[in-house]
Amino acid sequence: MTVNSLIESDRAHWIHPVSSWHDHEQRGVTVLRSGKGVYLTDIEGNELLDGFAGLWCVNVGYGHDSIVEAAAEQMRRLAYATGYFSFGSEPAILLAQKLADRAPGDLKHVYFGLGGSDAVDSAIRLIRYYYNITGRPAKKHMIALERGYHGSSSTGAGLTGLPAFHLHFDAPAPMQHHIAPPYPYRSDAASDVELIARSVADLRAKVEELGAENVAAFFAEPVIGSGGVIVPPKGWLSAMQATCRELDILFVVDEVITGFGRTGPLFACEHEGVTPDFMTVAKGLTAGYAPMGAMFMSDRIYRAIADRSAGQPIGHGQTYSGHPVSAAVALEVLRLYEEGGLLANSQAVGAYFGERLKTLLDHPLVGDVRSLGLLAGVELVTSKTAKTRPDAALNLPGHLARIGYDNKVIFRAFGDGIVGFAPPLCITRDETDLLIERFRASLDELLTIKEIRDAV
Ligand code: PMP
Repeated sequence: MTVNSLIESDRAHWIHPVSSWHDHEQRGVTVLRSGKGVYLTDIEGNELLDGFAGLWCVNVGYGHDSIVEAAAEQMRRLAYATGYFSFGSEPAILLAQKLADRAPGDLKHVYFGLGGSDAVDSAIRLIRYYYNITGRPAKKHMIALERGYHGSSSTGAGLTGLPAFHLHFDAPAPMQHHIAPPYPYRSDAASDVELIARSVADLRAKVEELGAENVAAFFAEPVIGSGGVIVPPKGWLSAMQATCRELDILFVVDEVITGFGRTGPLFACEHEGVTPDFMTVAKGLTAGYAPMGAMFMSDRIYRAIADRSAGQPIGHGQTYSGHPVSAAVALEVLRLYEEGGLLANSQAVGAYFGERLKTLLDHPLVGDVRSLGLLAGVELVTSKTAKTRPDAALNLPGHLARIGYDNKVIFRAFGDGIVGFAPPLCITRDETDLLIERFRASLDELLTIKEIRDAV
């Protein structure tokens, strides 16, 4: 097929995720063809530095033969085994064991799904189940952060705190609530301590308003991802955990982006010794080589449900829960993080990446840079002193991403003038330099657009 016929077929038939269908039709698809390490090659032969690891998922980089072999070997031996009716497969069992060994606290039980949305959806369903079966059926309200992202299932999208996921979707659902995020750059709090105290007070106030006896859980990402890569001050996550414990509500940490070395340690919870009641992961679990997500549940909650379930099947499951090929992929990916040195590289290069990003602060368009490990956000402003958000009509991040593509670097454009970076964890210092260099050149080029230059 020619490039043009691919573009035509795509326009005619493929409904793309999270996009304006109208704008996509106008713009046409960009077809990617191959990848190696941190580089992608598109159908026209352009080699691009992927500063976003696909969709913050290809943590090990592209083209790992050992993962291909693990998947092929498992497909040859046994392409599918159900987890229903007490069946299972070796890779899924080994993976559950490995994950439980490495997860924080007593998160000893793992439910496998297909990605992040159904990991969150599983947590929501099982939290309801837990409170109903343990005799506290009133505990149903769930609280999350504005700008948080918890997937696009019909329940998870309500917890997501982004307007596009609610508009015309009748979301959030009743009993889903949001509080303000900890947003250092946009907060007038005098210190990190004050910012954390405000978050705690907001959660407390929301729980009081609803009545603690009616509140089931609080959901949070350790670093707000899709809402603009907002890094809370150190101590925020543990303060929220302590508040949940005190108020007797479950603490759910969504590590779909931050899990598997993205911020340095295997899980971002480890930065502060946080031990949630539920934890959700996906993306880096299989590094995008196969679809898989997982929900971890504490031993305490698992036992409370298991001990009451004699003779009663718990009606939650998917055909592909614990898919053996995805599990075999995940086992090899985990080996690459630990024995293959990728976690160590993420820690070493993550610090360097953070330093290099800070050098962008002298640029007239850059108001803020924030990062944790290899996860970063850059917030563009049209006045640095007034921290003025660029007019949405200027579509600064969109223009920047397009210019970036022409300069052979990929990063992610968000709303509110924010762009995000999440390169594969195998990125070297030289590749980091190249990423920053190409990004800076793209920023400079952005200023050659008249309306943008006039707005600054
Ligand atoms: N939670 C978080 C924190 C996420 O970032 C995402 C995806 N970006 C999800 C849940 C949903 O994951 P998926 O897209 O795999 O359904």
